[in-house]
Amino acid sequence: MAILVCGGAGYIGPHTVHQLIEKGEDVIIVDNLQHGHRGALNPKAKFYEGDIRDYEVLDKIFTENKIEAVIHFCAYIEAGESVQKPLKYFNNNVYGMQVLLESMVKHKVDKIVFSSTAAVYGEPQKIPIEETDQTKPINPYGETKLMMEKIMHWVSRADGINYVSLRYFNAAGAIDDGSIGEDHHPETHLIPLILQVPLGKRDHITIFGDDYDTPDGTCIRDYIHVLDLADAHVLAVEYLRKGGKSDAFNLGSGKGFSVKEMIEAAKKVTGKDIKVEMGARRPGDPARLIASSDKARKVLGWNPKYTDVEVVIKTAWNWHQKHPNGYEA
Ligand code: UDP
Repeated sequence: MAILVCGGAGYIGPHTVHQLIEKGEDVIIVDNLQHGHRGALNPKAKFYEGDIRDYEVLDKIFTENKIEAVIHFCAYIEAGESVQKPLKYFNNNVYGMQVLLESMVKHKVDKIVFSSTAAVYGEPQKIPIEETDQTKPINPYGETKLMMEKIMHWVSRADGINYVSLRYFNAAGAIDDGSIGEDHHPETHLIPLILQVPLGKRDHITIFGDDYDTPDGTCIRDYIHVLDLADAHVLAVEYLRKGGKSDAFNLGSGKGFSVKEMIEAAKKVTGKDIKVEMGARRPGDPARLIASSDKARKVLGWNPKYTDVEVVIKTAWNWHQKHPNGYEA
């Protein structure tokens, strides 16, 4: 029996595929390669190029293979863009989930692990954020992910599908050998943008606001290593195999770092000066996002290994140095 990884050519997908294969799992990938990269595909996994909104693509995959569980990473992920183009997000993310679940029901596949996000919470009511806290997204991206969770909830009750929603905080870093990593076009995430300065690809990093209610005035985030995230997916599949009930889990380190602290850490890791400019706030950025991941630790047995933020940045630096132009290089 194989595990189908939808979106296995992006960022977190390939790291999860790697961990699954290390565990001896049989892996099948489907990706439309719109944002995914051929170079991120694991040669040990069978690959189908196609869109999960296409019933025929999924019919073919589910018919040609014995699929035990699905891990679902396919989504548009840019909060800012989602405000400008909400329908693009509802179509790809929400409709994509609908087609995937319909196909799973049709082909009697009853386990799904879903890539959710801290954006489902919106502006947090308290820190650290727990799974039982209010979910009130402040952009269409977060709204689509919450809707996808809700669709799974109702389908699980009606059609017996069991799901795990993994609500990631800030995914960061890369596999230790630097063979796969983060490559977004355009890049909007803090760590890759900071590292573009010492790589000589960018003159400076702009801090989006230093007038937040935090000790140094810059936003605080919870950065969690991509391989720790990947491990949580492997554990979530095992949890569902053992008959675990459908549920949502936060995945974060539980520690917060400000934008300024991240820049200082990147200076240490790279040994280079990093020019900084102060800019305006980016709309929709909460001051502070820190996860409580106690539930994932307790219920899934998750134990993140990359607990030092400098080590996290070091793995990203290694990937970017080896692939200054991402997978194109
Ligand atoms: N950020 C920044 N400058 C940049 C990119 C990001 O100051 O060029 C800040 C952003 O405002 C946020 C933090 O870095 O507070 C993390 O942003 P990112 O886009 O990486 O992740 P998000 O928290 O939005 O998911």
